[in-house]
Amino acid sequence: MIRKTSSLLIALALAANAYVANAHATAPTAKSKANEAATARHLAGLIAGAEPKLSELTLFFSQMPKGADLHHHYSGALYAEQYVDFLDKQGLCVNKQTYRIETSKAVIDAQRALPAAERTCLSSADVLADDFTYRELLQRWSSKDFDNHGAIQPPPDRQFFQTFGFFGPVSNANYNDGLLELKKRAIAENVGYIETMFKLAPMTGNVDADNAMWKAGDDAALTAAMRSWMETLEKDPTFNQTLADYVERIKTNHANIDDERFTMRYQAYVLRLVNPSMVFSSMLAGFKAASQSELIVGVNIVGQESLAPSMRDYELHMKMFRFLKTRYPKVKLALHAGELALGDVPPEGLKFHIEQALNVAGADRIGHGIDLAHESNAPAIMKTMRDKDIPVEINLTSNAFISGIKGANHPVTLYRKFGVPYVISTDDAGVTRHNLSQEYTLFASRYQPSYAEIKKVSYNGVRYAFLPEQEKQRLMRQLDERFARFEALVASWPAAASVTQRAR
Ligand SMILES: [Zn+2]
Repeated sequence: MIRKTSSLLIALALAANAYVANAHATAPTAKSKANEAATARHLAGLIAGAEPKLSELTLFFSQMPKGADLHHHYSGALYAEQYVDFLDKQGLCVNKQTYRIETSKAVIDAQRALPAAERTCLSSADVLADDFTYRELLQRWSSKDFDNHGAIQPPPDRQFFQTFGFFGPVSNANYNDGLLELKKRAIAENVGYIETMFKLAPMTGNVDADNAMWKAGDDAALTAAMRSWMETLEKDPTFNQTLADYVERIKTNHANIDDERFTMRYQAYVLRLVNPSMVFSSMLAGFKAASQSELIVGVNIVGQESLAPSMRDYELHMKMFRFLKTRYPKVKLALHAGELALGDVPPEGLKFHIEQALNVAGADRIGHGIDLAHESNAPAIMKTMRDKDIPVEINLTSNAFISGIKGANHPVTLYRKFGVPYVISTDDAGVTRHNLSQEYTLFASRYQPSYAEIKKVSYNGVRYAFLPEQEKQRLMRQLDERFARFEALVASWPAAASVTQRAR
């Protein structure tokens, strides 16, 4: 009974929010209302019953406008096929035995002098000409075939994270080409905005600063250690030059990205796997970069959360964010937090990551948040997120592949039930080989949301973007127009193909 009452309340709240989401639209005509209702009925028909109509859902969500992809890693978003093309662009080759990219000029030159059949280090064309090698390479540079062949495989999380090491040398160049490809793909699946974790903010290390932060007995000592390291960095010409280059490189690579159909913005990110002085220097650079450039709209923290350095220094990292957020209060934070499943680490490790990201670091958005049900204060976390309007970024394919969290075991069920706002995003669509439409298809087929809820989630992408209000309004108006076109299209489709078929 309680459950029924609460789901009714949530349904009412969602309906009210859907109304708010559309409030900025020009007054709906009777025709546009009828189209919206027809679209809602159409979706309900596709997800009703024991077996959702996946193919029809795929068509529906491929066409449906998706406001934004807010949890998006640039290097993980490009497909391995593109990285193979980048080999030639950069004058590199890939070792035929190890599938690692060769960067030594002497080796590359020697290989080039050989006849094609004798080369052990392959160009883009060599790879494409050799089906076996190409396939083997794609299996190492992405999750291709992981679920459908019987070869001996590494654990899925290692398979996932080690792909970045394989394509690393070509993902750190050709940025504008890569961004243009992502733009083209976004437009093709009706995505209006991407906020991508683009480049690691520059970092520099210092053993004394490491020790001062590690050994600080209390918060006052830690603050003193961070301040001292910050002052050292700010006086360091190399740090300042690297930061200026970083900001400039993002500006240069943004050429021809924004237009009336598509907008891209960038997050600086830090890597949680390195020593504290490096994490701090990178974080400081990220905050400064975001303060200097309108293109850089936030800071994030990445790297596998279950690894020893991430677990050891988690709280320290959150306190670094708190320290810098008080100095740069306008800089927005989207933080990977609680990307952990039971068994990844001992149970104590699952108890506080989302909570500290919210309450210590001051996160404006939570990435993944899949350890929620294990956190000591899960109900309070959800209340805070709901009350402060802090969304969680849901990445279904990624969580299923890396952490085995899916179906009824995915906490999106909890976030929805407690009224926490959420967005649907891709994480690393190139590595795990999917797209944003597929994430919506997965979500709808698994959790049977109403069309009003789906539409709200699509608008949430813009609502929770780290953009100035005026930009958001522009993207909202664009989304209104796209949805009007989409709903008119769906209303013109055969109302219920499966019913017609059954009648035959
Ligand atoms: Zn991520």
